[in-house]
Amino acid sequence: MSDDDITPSQISAVNLQRAQRYIDSGQDNLLPILKYPRRVISVNFPIEMDDGSVEVFRGYRVLHNRTLGPGKGGIRFHPEVDLDEVSALAMLMTWKCALLEIPFGGAKGGVVCDPKSLSQGELRRITRRFISELGDDLGPYTDIPSPDLYTDEQTMAWVYDTYDVMHQGNNNRAVVTGKPLLLGGSPGRREATARGCVSVTEYFIHRGLIPALSELRGSRVAIQGFGNVGEVAAQLFSECGAIIVALSDSQGGIADGEGIDLTEASAFKKTTGTLVGLAHTETITNSDLLEIDCDVLIPAALGRQITADNAGSIKAKVIVEAANGPVTPAADRILAERGIWLLPDILVNAGGVTVSYFEWLQNLDNETWQLDEVNSRLHQRMRASAEATIARWQYLQCDLSGNEDAEYPLDLRTAALTLAVDRLAQITAQRGIWP
Ligand code: GLU
Repeated sequence: MSDDDITPSQISAVNLQRAQRYIDSGQDNLLPILKYPRRVISVNFPIEMDDGSVEVFRGYRVLHNRTLGPGKGGIRFHPEVDLDEVSALAMLMTWKCALLEIPFGGAKGGVVCDPKSLSQGELRRITRRFISELGDDLGPYTDIPSPDLYTDEQTMAWVYDTYDVMHQGNNNRAVVTGKPLLLGGSPGRREATARGCVSVTEYFIHRGLIPALSELRGSRVAIQGFGNVGEVAAQLFSECGAIIVALSDSQGGIADGEGIDLTEASAFKKTTGTLVGLAHTETITNSDLLEIDCDVLIPAALGRQITADNAGSIKAKVIVEAANGPVTPAADRILAERGIWLLPDILVNAGGVTVSYFEWLQNLDNETWQLDEVNSRLHQRMRASAEATIARWQYLQCDLSGNEDAEYPLDLRTAALTLAVDRLAQITAQRGIWP
């Protein structure tokens, strides 16, 4: 399939097909169940704006699969949210939870809005009204939201409060994760996606799989996106001794071959709202950032950033998918041909949902774990899943040598997906089709 105008759902479908080719669970007849979302909710609701006018907003919540447990996945606020994208992202959540052996299914939600042009009051009313519209389709054992693009701890506090008002008399903390600490959030949840991303990257380097890169220390890292994930990733990679040579946000990027001072970058972003213009850095575009000379390239913003159009110009040795779906299948092929490694989203960014699971466990017990415990459990899971992905990739290569897919490479994305899909197909068969 060509890359032009490929939709997120088409990307998920192609990737699922790539994995199915290598699945040997004897459960092939169950795989079609995984192709489609189990439940799709679409709502339109009015909000009174600060100036007294009334606007109608559209929101979605998609539950892709609940074979492993209740639905789990973020809520994003963005002007480009649509049902196709939310469905594809819900499917990715199913794979992530299955790969990390987390007892949740996959879900995702979103509201079509431009959070940058909305006041806190408007955002609060949108969140509350959206959650009340979803009613009992959300719940600690039904479907559990969390932060995503342009939603944060404050948004999750409103989600919790709305649900709690609607279900008084219960411990409702486990209905949403990514909450502020005082409301039952987990230590380490905010940093978890980025921490997991560092953990997996280090593991692959340590296993000697990326030939031209022997350690993170001294490696040159470029990060697209300076939000929940990108900013923390910059900090953590830098703490490991990496040099952050380029950063970007929605307004553009900055580069400095000697390394960007992160304290200055964060302070500048806080006061001006953007990184662009930071002293002693060169201004670049988001597309320049992707093609910059570096060792590790981390797309940590939107989907479909690396496509057939720019994959031939990427100079990094390894791409680490901190965002969901940043690389298209056609780009996967070009990158593999060029010997550029790709660490796939369902593994790399699964640290977020992993600590969300820890938060849910803490909430059910009304307990708070120490940060060290959260981080060490996170590392353990991320490394175990990274190792399982490598082992599956090596196994598939030996097993199918001479029988490579002509159209798409047998890469780590395919290996991680086969693990997830295989696991789900087997569990679906064990549970049996109802009735
Ligand atoms: N929104 C994050 C993701 O895409 C986190 C999901 C969660 O914590 O449930 O993985």
